[in-house]
Amino acid sequence: MFGKHLFPGGIHPAEGTNGKAVNQRNAITELPAPKRVVIPLSQHIGAPAKAIVKKGDRVLMGQMIGEAGGFVSAPVHASVSGIVADIVPVTMFNGSEITAIVIENDFRDEWAPLDAPADPESLSPAETLQRIRQAGIVGMGGATFPTAVKLTIAPDKHFEKLVINGAECEPYLTADHRLMLEQADAIIDAVSLILRIFSVPEAIIGVEENKPDAIDALRRAASGNPAIRVQALPVRYPQGGEKQLIHALTGRTVPAGKLPIETGCVVMNAGTAFAVHEALREGKPLIRRVTTVGGLVAKPNNWLVRIGTPVRELLRASGGTQKGTRTLISGGPMMGTAFTEIDIPVTKGCSGILALGREAIDPEESPCIRCGRCMRACPMNLQPVRMDHAIRARRFDEADKLGVMNCIECGACTFVCPATRMLTQSFRAGKRIVTIRRNQQKAREEAEKAALAAKAAAEQSKTDGKEA
Ligand code: SF4
Ligand code: SF4
Repeated sequence: MFGKHLFPGGIHPAEGTNGKAVNQRNAITELPAPKRVVIPLSQHIGAPAKAIVKKGDRVLMGQMIGEAGGFVSAPVHASVSGIVADIVPVTMFNGSEITAIVIENDFRDEWAPLDAPADPESLSPAETLQRIRQAGIVGMGGATFPTAVKLTIAPDKHFEKLVINGAECEPYLTADHRLMLEQADAIIDAVSLILRIFSVPEAIIGVEENKPDAIDALRRAASGNPAIRVQALPVRYPQGGEKQLIHALTGRTVPAGKLPIETGCVVMNAGTAFAVHEALREGKPLIRRVTTVGGLVAKPNNWLVRIGTPVRELLRASGGTQKGTRTLISGGPMMGTAFTEIDIPVTKGCSGILALGREAIDPEESPCIRCGRCMRACPMNLQPVRMDHAIRARRFDEADKLGVMNCIECGACTFVCPATRMLTQSFRAGKRIVTIRRNQQKAREEAEKAALAAKAAAEQSKTDGKEA
């Protein structure tokens, strides 16, 4: 139905509409570690980690300082060596407050003993999952889902294809581009290890065709392994969405409300694959990442930054924000989160820090002219205009039926709307309310069930009493 390597809908936003996009030739530069790092205990989807150090403790670089708080969780590690100065709540990019461990850097970069396996190729799947879990690896494209959980495949499912997400389809962001170019061998090594250990027959690496140097580097690195294919993809947003990428690379469709494994695929971001390489080859936990700083800053760049570094340091190293900056965004301009507090620490999922101008300010809305452009742009085949009308009229059941919970909040509909309707914000709010209503309904049903069971038990005991 759709052309080869295409998914339904989508748009093609410009690389950057104010300021300059980060020069793709900007090599990754290591940002000096700051005086203090602030490591939040929750940088992932799932239960927060639990602190296992206390104020005054000396910690080493790479030492686990917070253990996973459940199965769907991830530990956190010290990104510098030094002294635990405090354990306090900090504000995150989305405005939530999370407990964080503050470490005063002693600038010795003294590593904790690294437990590198002698022969990663011979690890069992269970040992590999344990190492990935202990290394605190989560989806680094921004989703932050714990990688070990993603690679834990239910017995009735079949892991047939590893899909590596190198699309990096949002404007301004080039961190993955540089990583794929500079660390192609390491990424291919991680892919080869996963294929071998989990007995997966094939890996496909999807990279948008505006990164030809990265495609060449990955193809060169993968040339000895016929199970790995590097596929150039048309430039189209949101190519990096899991469902869109699977469709573009395999032609398979993930059913609504289901996970990629339903199609036999597991999707992993290129940065996550690099972290897996470091964990399996060197025993290193996830304590740093590449983050693009772009938009209205004097020196846009791709920084290799310690987790927990305040954004203030990144902006300072990038020459500071320029005149005309109206907002700061964590992530890309389409799906990122606006924030104001620049002492927020860089976390595992922080792919970019952007300073944006006027275009980032919500424009004034005008009435819908029913042009249908939003429906053509939607990569999830939804009807944004109808969902928006339902939500604004507080008809949440109708919005639910129209599939608002399948909205991936990609912003494509908002981008194309000539009436500048704030569709994505409407769906974000609508999804929150539908979730609350679903949970309330579930709680009501469970309470009714419990009341019926209690009544039945009481009647039974009355009957038993009579019989006795
Ligand atoms: S794109 Fe905007 S104006 Fe056109 S139908 Fe959708 S909501 Fe209405
Ligand atoms: S934000 Fe939601 S409704 Fe709008 S285009 Fe993206 S998936 Fe479709």
